[in-house]
Amino acid sequence: VPNKSDDIELAWLPDLVYTGGRFETGTALVCDRAGRIISLAPAGEVKEGKVVRLKGRAVLPGLVNSHSHAFQRVIRGRTEYRTGEGRDNFWTWREMMYSAATRLSPEDLYDASRLTFLEMALSGITSVGEFHYLHLAPDGSAYDDPNLLSKTVIRAARDVGLRICLLRVAYARAGFAASPNPKQIRFIEADAESFLDNAERLRSELDKDDAGSSAWVGVAPHSVRAVPLDYLKEVFHYAREKRLPFHMHVAEQPAEIAACMKEHGRSPVALLDTEGFLDERFTGVHGIHISEEEARALSRAGSIICACPTTERNLGDGVIPAALLFTEGVRVSLGTDSHTQIDLLEDARELEYNMRLKKLERVVLNEASADPSALAASLFDCATRHGAASIGMPAGRGALEAGQPADFFTVDLHHPSIAGACPEDLLAHVLFSLSSAAVREVVVGGRMIVEAGQHRAAREIVEKFIALQKRLWD
Ligand SMILES: [Zn+2]
Repeated sequence: VPNKSDDIELAWLPDLVYTGGRFETGTALVCDRAGRIISLAPAGEVKEGKVVRLKGRAVLPGLVNSHSHAFQRVIRGRTEYRTGEGRDNFWTWREMMYSAATRLSPEDLYDASRLTFLEMALSGITSVGEFHYLHLAPDGSAYDDPNLLSKTVIRAARDVGLRICLLRVAYARAGFAASPNPKQIRFIEADAESFLDNAERLRSELDKDDAGSSAWVGVAPHSVRAVPLDYLKEVFHYAREKRLPFHMHVAEQPAEIAACMKEHGRSPVALLDTEGFLDERFTGVHGIHISEEEARALSRAGSIICACPTTERNLGDGVIPAALLFTEGVRVSLGTDSHTQIDLLEDARELEYNMRLKKLERVVLNEASADPSALAASLFDCATRHGAASIGMPAGRGALEAGQPADFFTVDLHHPSIAGACPEDLLAHVLFSLSSAAVREVVVGGRMIVEAGQHRAAREIVEKFIALQKRLWD
């Protein structure tokens, strides 16, 4: 039993701890100096003096946000109107997003990212997968350090206190047989060789820092639209050799599927499957327009689909077929993507609610169980365990167990949004009804980054962001 008291840094003692799929009472999280959980011990066995009592709180594993474009926070609230005569959709929204992407300086990117990560921290998110495609200066020239902007986003996450998987995006072209789009100029690394050189440089630098436990690299060919097949193959082989997370936008828009059929004679998922790219390190982001056969291919390969329902509903992308994915055993992770809203539990509940609206039934995604928290538990896994698997956390499975990092958040059991819950149905209260204002403490690697609902740098981060928005839009 690893309970040598010299190694103990702290024991956190809340009213309830969510572990092993249920809430336990009278249980302390005993952590070492490295911010790792040594054990979950009965409260009475923990030495006084090293105990942090979290009275009136329940502790849950930190949420893992597996798809983010941090800079897109700057267009929140600025795209909710019609841009012209025709229909507004994903593609018209994208033009507005590009108008921001083409203007941000490295400092602007830092200020925008820090605000996004602050909001994540305050809502209980402890790790993020940042799908990062800004590489070049606004005029399309390279910075002296080709990873300047990647490192800027990483610095923002670290300064807030989140763990980050920097999913470095490969972006080669506007589309199949499409002429270059000048607004994409900052994304483009036209050949696989330069992309891989830059990604490898970033990977080896981050590895030296802290063995990659606070920041690490994944690779993310943007989509089958933006990356031709030969390039894709090289990125995949690199990811496989280095055992890195491999993410792609897949099946978000019907037009993307039509273009893929035209170029490859196969849908995006069928293409990825027949080329052998689907494995347990593969995450397809969105996966809205997929067939039963494609869901089975994803399941066979052990791949993950990252759903982003709060963004997908905002963009009018469509409804992720969660019932199909759950039935076929495809793991689903969650992302706040465009950051219209940053509340990963809202994304989790949306998976189920969309199915209810479509089927005119209740409790669709876990119909077999009468356990009052079973549905909530499977949705909560999407926001924790499956997210951790998706971003390949070097030292964490998204659960509070011995040997895992002490990454967690607390909720105030007296908050009006969940007051009156009992341990058996508390998770259902949290999953379906928690206000993020009920999140009180957030701890990453044993370090408290949010205390009594406050982040120490919040005021400065918000002021810098307000100044940025004035510069961008006034
Ligand atoms: Zn995205």
